[in-house]
Amino acid sequence: MKAKLTVLGSGTSMGVPTIGCGCAVCQSPDPQDRRTRPSILIQYENHGVVIDTTPDFREQAIREGIRHLDAVFYTHAHADHILGLDDLRPLTFQAGGRLPLYAQEPALRRIEHMFSYIFAGEYKYGGLAQVELNLLDGPVEIGGARFLPVPVLHGDSEICGFRVGSAAYLTDFSEIPESSMSLLDNLDILFLDALRHKPHPTHSTVENSVALVERIRPRRAFFTHISHDLPHAETNAHLPSHVRLAYDGLKLEFEI
Ligand SMILES: [Zn+2]
Ligand SMILES: [Zn+2]
Ligand SMILES: [Zn+2]
Repeated sequence: MKAKLTVLGSGTSMGVPTIGCGCAVCQSPDPQDRRTRPSILIQYENHGVVIDTTPDFREQAIREGIRHLDAVFYTHAHADHILGLDDLRPLTFQAGGRLPLYAQEPALRRIEHMFSYIFAGEYKYGGLAQVELNLLDGPVEIGGARFLPVPVLHGDSEICGFRVGSAAYLTDFSEIPESSMSLLDNLDILFLDALRHKPHPTHSTVENSVALVERIRPRRAFFTHISHDLPHAETNAHLPSHVRLAYDGLKLEFEI
């Protein structure tokens, strides 16, 4: 079936512009140099799935006119990927029933802890997000689409990206283990972390991700989790033509 992928946010944890920064990218008038925190939306038939709920989720959801979600998948429990969870509330009130959230251990425990007022069941005044937190321990089917966790290393932590149909989304990694490579064959679209040029202990760089694209050979690749070190237009000019920096609001079609 046909699916649409929307980049809700393409920026690193602090966002671009970064608070208090006067650098050229943070001051840039190019709208593609404005990056909210990293997340994507996948829509197919009448279904909608979000990967991660960032501190910018509310603005992203309003910008893209999100009216309905079937599920949320979490890559890991760093603040830039989970802090928008509470802003799921209006979407969960409409739905009737509980919106399923999926996370692996230990992200699941961290989310439960951070949002204990939602999950402890003691708050008696209502108004809480109507969500249920599920352990992600294998592929999950949502409305006929199979979401497959793809293990990656984010520094010392094993977290996950996701593959659905011919698209894969790998944000926040410093290394893709060999055992995950076979999950990435025959991709139309591959999203990869590319924080900046300079090495970072928990993130991939532009150079490292270009090398991964050459190895994995997707039809097209997009870089995300981008810091203010990378001006959009200038960086794109130096990338291979089938590799582009993602930007907020980018929309792609693919097959599930
Ligand atoms: Zn992150
Ligand atoms: Zn800056
Ligand atoms: Zn992270």
